Amino acid sequence: MTFTLPRNLRSRKPQAGRLLLEIGGTRYSLRPVACHAQIGKRAFRLLKDDGTVYDVVQTPYGAECDCPDFIFRRDGLDPDGCKHVQALVSVGMIPAHRAN
Ligand SMILES: [Zn+2]
Repeated sequence: MTFTLPRNLRSRKPQAGRLLLEIGGTRYSLRPVACHAQIGKRAFRLLKDDGTVYDVVQTPYGAECDCPDFIFRRDGLDPDGCKHVQALVSVGMIPAHRAN
């Protein structure tokens, strides 16, 4: 049995600590940000090419995002969250919101 480095993952990391994430055709650079332990376990900052920034925080109650879609349409309504939360879950950066 042989093991090789996942080249596709390596190529998505142009710099250490910086990931590129594509959501619905929009490119974001993704980096972990400091998060107070009382607020959440971990947090990520998504930076769009046009300079828009969204922060996603993994809280004890599930992931929260500060984008308008999450604030007005998802918070407390949709356990899957906005597209940013769903994208971070799908790449394994934050765990999926547990059922119930
Ligand atoms: Zn969002």
